[in-house]
Amino acid sequence: MTGPAGLLDMAAAAALSALDRAGRRRVLRAYDRDGIRLRLPDGRVLVDVASNDYLGLAQDPGIIDRAAEFTARYGAGSGASRLVCGTLTAHREVEEKLAAFLGTEAALLIGTGYQANATLPAALAELLGGDVDLLVDRLAHASLLQGCFGQGLKARRFRHNDLDHLEDLLRTSTAAARMVVTESVFSMDGDAADLGALLDLADRHGAPVYLDEAHAIGVLGPQGRGLAAHFPGRVAVTMGTLGKAFGGFGAYVAGSRLLIDYLVNRCGGVIYTTAPPPAVLGALDAALDVMPSLDMERMRLAGMGDAVRMAVRGAGYDTAASSTQIIPVIAGAEQAALDLQALLEQAGFLAVAIRPPTVPAGTARLRLSLSSALDDQTVGQLLGVLTCLPPRGMDGVP
Ligand code: PMP
Repeated sequence: MTGPAGLLDMAAAAALSALDRAGRRRVLRAYDRDGIRLRLPDGRVLVDVASNDYLGLAQDPGIIDRAAEFTARYGAGSGASRLVCGTLTAHREVEEKLAAFLGTEAALLIGTGYQANATLPAALAELLGGDVDLLVDRLAHASLLQGCFGQGLKARRFRHNDLDHLEDLLRTSTAAARMVVTESVFSMDGDAADLGALLDLADRHGAPVYLDEAHAIGVLGPQGRGLAAHFPGRVAVTMGTLGKAFGGFGAYVAGSRLLIDYLVNRCGGVIYTTAPPPAVLGALDAALDVMPSLDMERMRLAGMGDAVRMAVRGAGYDTAASSTQIIPVIAGAEQAALDLQALLEQAGFLAVAIRPPTVPAGTARLRLSLSSALDDQTVGQLLGVLTCLPPRGMDGVP
């Protein structure tokens, strides 16, 4: 590029070489997928223990067929934003079916979970009168940090899952209103919020709760309806993604009919964006048909999580407070996490090292993310590899 356009290239080159020097430059690797196996360009085949397709639905023929059927019937795209003319009858029908599954009055599809979290908090703060303290769990996802801290709103973080700290912040808040923002299952530690206690606390302080169920929906709660389903009518706003246990793509927000109608009028992430395409609706429609009947898969996934945690801890690694299908193997140093990733690759498994700034310094980790689609033999192999991890502090794994 030349002229002013070249300025960006020069800056990008400098930024990339700084990342290179820090050993933090990331590149996109492309895979071919065959069920739970991924083929790399060099021909190696690795078992996927990294993705969020927790129930294997992304590869389910019934879901694939319905996505194709909706595409054939309604087209590749919805052609317009929701308020213009992008709302198909199919959007309505699938949203009603989703709300019935979640046990809420209403649900609304939103492009992606990132978009939902980045845009809903501002709309909700406006609804609460503007002078609102958003109290956000310290380990909340980047999209929530963007939505709460990147929008000029009043936001403060409470220590991860620390209800005493949250209570302090609620008690000392001088804003006219408060809203608590947290997740059901935390994406990097794999632990869950104590939602009952959190709701009791928030109720005492008159604060509505915004709950991100991205890693819980389809996996936890009665018939996979998420943690909020244990507390009907008490979580003001839930959002979840359809790209994880639902096996498709996109996201939703759910709550009362009034709340959803308000968001349609005031949330930029809903208004100024093209309506989700028919394939997304078809995949969701089919996933909702099967989701309640997958209790065996959910139990298997939970059991697999327990076995993996035991193996990892047996090998001398901390798994933080993980209690779900997401299991961090805390390595500490960044290189140690990369070494663990390489070691698993040699053994035929793909799990990804997660490093700062995604996780706090000194807690770089290998993140294992399990799926009920893993067969018993493969799980046995994984447990074998994990049991034999080199002890922390030995060669290559400081
Ligand atoms: N919330 C959490 C907790 C997540 O982990 C993610 C994505 N991994 C998102 C939101 C964003 O969802 P999406 O992938 O649909 O943008």
